[in-house]
Amino acid sequence: MKLDQQRINLKTENRKAMLDAYVQMIEDLDIKKRWEASLCQICFYSKGRIAGQAFTSHECGICDEPMQFPSTDVNALCKDCAKLNTLCVHCGCSMRLTKRLKEPVSSKELE
Ligand SMILES: [Zn+2]
Ligand SMILES: [Zn+2]
Repeated sequence: MKLDQQRINLKTENRKAMLDAYVQMIEDLDIKKRWEASLCQICFYSKGRIAGQAFTSHECGICDEPMQFPSTDVNALCKDCAKLNTLCVHCGCSMRLTKRLKEPVSSKELE
């Protein structure tokens, strides 16, 4: 593949956008929105995740509630369990990035 001026500029734009996303990730510019969405810094700012276009069902890793997703990019937890345990809804890590000392609590057990 020939690397012409147009291709170089395209690559450069792509890299610049990636770098901008990293800067946003590190500076946590959208912290309020991020906490509302129950997403850790990595998951919230990693836009354009690679995912297949297939309806996927997946259970919450804590309460086993079945969930439906429009792609293969599924969440690890349901929103209730994520909020209750202060975990990232997408990957399940601690929202404060601190080590967890006890088992998570299921949102279903509280009902
Ligand atoms: Zn759950
Ligand atoms: Zn996450």
